[in-house]
Amino acid sequence: MSSSVALRLPSIDGLLRHPACAPLAERYGRDSLLTGLRQLLDELRPGVLSGQLAAVEIGPEVLAGRVGERLAQQQRSQVRRVFNLTGTVLHTNLGRALLPEEAIEAVQMAARYPLNLEFDLASGKRGDRDDLIEGLIRELTGAEAVTVVNNNAAAVLLTLNSLGARKEGIISRGELIEIGGAFRIPDIMARAGVRLHEVGTTNRTHARDYQAAIGPRSGLIMRVHASNYSIEGFTARVPTAELAELAHAHGLPLLEDLGSGSLLDLTRWGLPAEPTVRQALLDGADIVTFSGDKLLGGPQAGLIVGRKELIAKIKKNPLKRALRVDKLTLAALEAVLGLYRDPDRLVERLPSLRLLTRPQADIHAQAVRLQPLLADVLGEVWQVSAVEALGMIGSGSQPVARLPSAALCCRPQVSKRWRGRYLLNLEAALRGLPIPVLGRIGDDALWLDLRQLDDEPAWLAQLAQLQVDR
Ligand SMILES: *Cc1c(COP(=O)(O)O)cnc(C)c1O
Repeated sequence: MSSSVALRLPSIDGLLRHPACAPLAERYGRDSLLTGLRQLLDELRPGVLSGQLAAVEIGPEVLAGRVGERLAQQQRSQVRRVFNLTGTVLHTNLGRALLPEEAIEAVQMAARYPLNLEFDLASGKRGDRDDLIEGLIRELTGAEAVTVVNNNAAAVLLTLNSLGARKEGIISRGELIEIGGAFRIPDIMARAGVRLHEVGTTNRTHARDYQAAIGPRSGLIMRVHASNYSIEGFTARVPTAELAELAHAHGLPLLEDLGSGSLLDLTRWGLPAEPTVRQALLDGADIVTFSGDKLLGGPQAGLIVGRKELIAKIKKNPLKRALRVDKLTLAALEAVLGLYRDPDRLVERLPSLRLLTRPQADIHAQAVRLQPLLADVLGEVWQVSAVEALGMIGSGSQPVARLPSAALCCRPQVSKRWRGRYLLNLEAALRGLPIPVLGRIGDDALWLDLRQLDDEPAWLAQLAQLQVDR
């Protein structure tokens, strides 16, 4: 005979009227609360029927508490701020460049109000969104004309398709690169409808290799910045000026994908030399493509600059409409480009440049200051030291160059067989903080490179919450 005191779940109506649920309805809305309660009761029902749950586990206050936790979790944004202490400044997985205040204000304006995105205020007629930044980019690069798309991958795809579809694209075997998984030059060429004609070898390609490849089916010559790898030793590469001369002698355009590219010579700030867009154009490249959120320090975008008639052709391609930039990006881009008009103050105003050029002594002093605080929180198992470290620019700029930096280096004082587990636990605990802290594991230690620790108060404020599993 079944027991007459069998446990029963509270009714939905009863719960909704219960005082413990009232604040939840107020905060998250009645519909969300109702959905949450239904889900929870459905999950608990089998346990109640089988007698595995005790009465205290299904009291209204307990259920309200559990639903409240879930609703809070649901409401938390999936897009989260993090601390990038990886040592890689332009980290693709962490959103690359940080925008300057001027750009943030421009984005807010563009988000909040109608604007002249495709409207010419002078004539009162329809305008073109590229016109909003064309003047600035021409001034900063010396290009005849400009068009902007969603990112540099789009810029390369669109350019190849517009200028080389159904023809051959000639490119050195040393430049058939892959940039992070999905972006591989041969695949992009194929998708753009350009037949790949590879020339030379991985380490050496000569002018005569290009020359021999040129024929009636040729559509363009392409050059790609090697970005995230470097070839050293017995190498040969045809200078852009010479390649341009060869291309033009045969009526072919020369495209140069600079990847990161730079608008200014970075060596003036002690950074490794990157090719500048202006120089590539001066050397004779007909079209140059580069990213907005790499060394430029702006929003994600792909900039296509170069000869007027080629840009006009690119703009007429229907793919342009599919790959175009939105108003928020354009607003941010214009503001960032504007800062380049005053290179003397660029380092103070452009966050990526400021972070890239932060002096090692400054970072090291910060590490020394923070070391006892982290050591205190981590306890005796961890040896925390302020040490010199090497970071990198990231995003395919100067893969071999290292930025002299400083880090908090955390070493678990346990036997070798446990070290890996301790490090992973510390890494997970740092990731679990309200503002997740991302470092890197290497050489039996966890490294927090402080080059990008700008907001020290926020970092310190959450340190006490760090709880590392053993
Ligand atoms: C980074 C890079 C790209 C892709 O640029 P995104 O802005 O990430 O789309 C293309 N080509 C080269 C050479 C690059 O370095």
